Amino acid sequence: MAYVITAPCIGVKDGACVLVCPPNAIRGRPDDPQLFIYPEVCLDCGACVEACPVGAVFADVDVPEEWHDFIALNDAKSRERR
Ligand code: SF4
Repeated sequence: MAYVITAPCIGVKDGACVLVCPPNAIRGRPDDPQLFIYPEVCLDCGACVEACPVGAVFADVDVPEEWHDFIALNDAKSRERR
């Protein structure tokens, strides 16, 4: 399991999640529309869920149906930047 950042983050990128993530699994470049969680780095602690002010973070098994594409999107960003 890993956690996933979904649509509400787009255009927000608050960054509070970054500050509470122990392994630095949440990353984004200035030109990214949102932040991403790198699944191979995520420890599944859940701290980012509470930190997010817009409710953008879910465990992958709990991602709402309409945002399922974000599971692959977070993983793809991680892979392209290894
Ligand atoms: S669940 Fe924990 S380790 Fe994973 S991204 Fe969120 S804060 Fe980081």
